[in-house]
Amino acid sequence: VKNMTTDIEIADAAQMQPIADIAAKLGLSSDDIEQYGHYKAKINLPVKKVAGKKHKLILVTGINPTSAGEGKSTVLVGLGDAMNQLGHQTTIAMREPSMGPVFGIKGGATGGGYSQVIPMEDSNLHFTGDMHALTSANNTLAALVDNYIMRDNELGLDPRRIIWRRVEDVNDRALRNVVTGLGGIMQGVPRETGFDITAASELMAILCLSKDLHDLKERIGRIVVGYTYGKEPVTVDQLGFTGAIALLLKDAIKPNLVQTLDHTPAIIHGGPFANIAHGCNSVIATRAAMATSDYTVTEAGFGADLGAEKFLDIKRPVLGKTPDAVVIVATVRALKLNGGVNAKELTEENIPALKNGLANLKRHVKNMQQYGLPVVVAINHFTTDTDEEIKTIADACSELGVQGIEADAWAKGGQGTQELAKAVVKLADEESEFKPLYNKEDSIEDKLNAVATKIYGAKRVVLSTKAKKQLKRFEELGWNDLPVCIAKTQYSFTDDQTKLGAPNDFDFHIRDLVPKLGAGFIVALSGTMMTMPGLAKHPAAENMDIDDNGQISGLF
Ligand code: ADP
Repeated sequence: VKNMTTDIEIADAAQMQPIADIAAKLGLSSDDIEQYGHYKAKINLPVKKVAGKKHKLILVTGINPTSAGEGKSTVLVGLGDAMNQLGHQTTIAMREPSMGPVFGIKGGATGGGYSQVIPMEDSNLHFTGDMHALTSANNTLAALVDNYIMRDNELGLDPRRIIWRRVEDVNDRALRNVVTGLGGIMQGVPRETGFDITAASELMAILCLSKDLHDLKERIGRIVVGYTYGKEPVTVDQLGFTGAIALLLKDAIKPNLVQTLDHTPAIIHGGPFANIAHGCNSVIATRAAMATSDYTVTEAGFGADLGAEKFLDIKRPVLGKTPDAVVIVATVRALKLNGGVNAKELTEENIPALKNGLANLKRHVKNMQQYGLPVVVAINHFTTDTDEEIKTIADACSELGVQGIEADAWAKGGQGTQELAKAVVKLADEESEFKPLYNKEDSIEDKLNAVATKIYGAKRVVLSTKAKKQLKRFEELGWNDLPVCIAKTQYSFTDDQTKLGAPNDFDFHIRDLVPKLGAGFIVALSGTMMTMPGLAKHPAAENMDIDDNGQISGLF
């Protein structure tokens, strides 16, 4: 047997089953899917609910990570495989990777080692074209808006107050701030604007929060693109572009079906980041999985302070389903990082630092329990972990009254994740009662304070002068009943990425608010968070290649 080391080598060696066979596991016939080649398909909507299924939902989240990721996707995939191996019919629902991180430092998002979704190169690159469709739809709207202000501009849309930006699915810091419309009368009206990454766009959020095509269209119509000279909001419906933008998303709205190395069905659909967006795959995908399965395992991005909070406060109300259990993925290395160890020394045993870092895990566990949710901790095993380190984490979990179970999804696939699977099934089959963090009627400021104080551990939220003015205006406009989507660093509970562990009593700074009426939330930008990432000194792209025979390397 060849000693396989990289994710792409393992994925390449796998025998895939025809996608129609995977669909059949969900009770879907060849008429229910549209094949994109042999191993990918889109699922036609609506997806019929299969009678007699349990329709349980499990949410996989994590602690504050290292820059390499803590293996949430890896554990998610291994867990799905393990549950099927144990006879519990399970489907995975996860996000589509953005090309930004794939070519940047973090890498892909289809799992790793022996717990992967395949075809992995397709899933991490162009896949079925949803990201490109979103990018095109977003930029078509931007072009239509610019054309509108250059022509008669009947509504008096103020070029200085356009909030609709262009997007692309690349980490491209050079496009964060641009001036468009330069070159004379026929090139449009010059104005300052910029690019966001597609994963942070409102259209991505809309795709992920829509229940169906009808809902998608209504949400697109509600998008506020900017304000008039009289400072009144202008929507896509008012401009008459709703139909065109919805049309561009007619295929992207259908969820994508692929499989794991162990042939568990995986529905990959939508990919908002959790730090600068809401961090969950589409409602349509999660519903498709739940409709056809006893158990659905899904993931929310980064730590439970970001993805899981947004899952519970933003996605859950639309989904109409509360998770039956939550898995918090922790690693020895991230706990040591949170405990103060230098990022270069994370592979050396360090029990005191690990104990220090456990404060981070504890807060995440308590946060999820605050919502009334049953929790289990998955300790994602790395080869450098020592027994003493694993035991230290498991003991800390016992003290919190939760199980801490070692998971070896990366090295052993589902075989390494069965203990976790058993615990998850047991938890998910028990009753629990959900307690919301805030109410719809609360003011936006109260909602921001609820997340910052109850989840992050902050003393209070401090709004910039600009944000205070915006809040006042949003109240006048009646936008109070929307949830908040806080853009925050994934590394810290605070707005400063260097403050690790579990800080207390800090001020949490909000500098800007962006209304996303189509998505149905108010974005609050904290600290220095930017909606277009940049590339590192040595991006992953440097290692990638494809040879004359089409053999790919360096894709992790
Ligand atoms: P997350 O979903 O938390 O961002 P991923 O599952 O994408 O994390 O994993 C990040 C990277 O770490 C991937 O390249 C994956 O192969 C690798 N990885 C995950 N778990 C392990 C492990 N236990 N041992 C070694 N590498 C791992």
